[in-house]
Amino acid sequence: MLRLVDVNTFYGPSHVLQNLSLEVEKGEIVCLLGANAAGKTTTMKTIFGLTRASSGSINFDGQAIERKLTGDIVKSGLALVPEARRIFPRMSVRENLEMGAFTRSNKNEIAEDMDHVCQIFPRLRERLKQLAGTMSGGEQQMLAMGRAIMSRPKMICMDEPSMGLSPKLVETVFDTILRIRSEGMTIFLVEQNASMALSLADRGYVLQTGKIVLTDTAKNLLTNDLVRQAYLGG
Ligand code: ATP
Repeated sequence: MLRLVDVNTFYGPSHVLQNLSLEVEKGEIVCLLGANAAGKTTTMKTIFGLTRASSGSINFDGQAIERKLTGDIVKSGLALVPEARRIFPRMSVRENLEMGAFTRSNKNEIAEDMDHVCQIFPRLRERLKQLAGTMSGGEQQMLAMGRAIMSRPKMICMDEPSMGLSPKLVETVFDTILRIRSEGMTIFLVEQNASMALSLADRGYVLQTGKIVLTDTAKNLLTNDLVRQAYLGG
């Protein structure tokens, strides 16, 4: 469903993504693991055209997207849950969710999806009128996920959804990812929390200084020596 082939991304002279290739098949949860500054967020930004690849191809759902505008990529069915949530703090929870449906116009469908999101996250239903910036970190993460679901995507990309959350909330977020997948969603997950990510992913890639150095099933990665030493604390 999503395929990157030999993608190179630079920030000025700094060559951040180096011939990066990866793919996510329909219905899979695939995780991208990597230490600080490995290039995980840059991979997400490159997929969404927020940073341009200087070469390589990015294909989503049968279409080349490497030259498309971010809004058009989202319209084609790819949603992003960005790093550090990036909700709209001065807008209400309801308005944030409505923003997620900006690519759509059918009001009845949008209302149905709002209801669906509130079923997944009852906390959001209780707080629809609250200003998003006054929600707790965990609630904001739920809102960011809910906003992505509001675009009725075919696939969701999540950049470190566990960042800054308590262990209990991390579990809630990961349970939600499994729930979304059970409804048929394809998910690409970028995480530093390798043990949690591998416990729910089907496959994973390991990114080191902008290069994929390893890919395997999540089960095999959990017992791989390099992964254990570098990402699972030995
Ligand atoms: P973290 O887990 O710490 O967020 P990451 O794997 O997501 O790390 P990136 O944010 O993709 O890493 O950054 C990869 C490298 O690119 C880093 O060395 C970073 O300093 C550099 N970088 C990121 N954004 C820019 C930018 N806009 N201009 C210049 N360098 C950048």
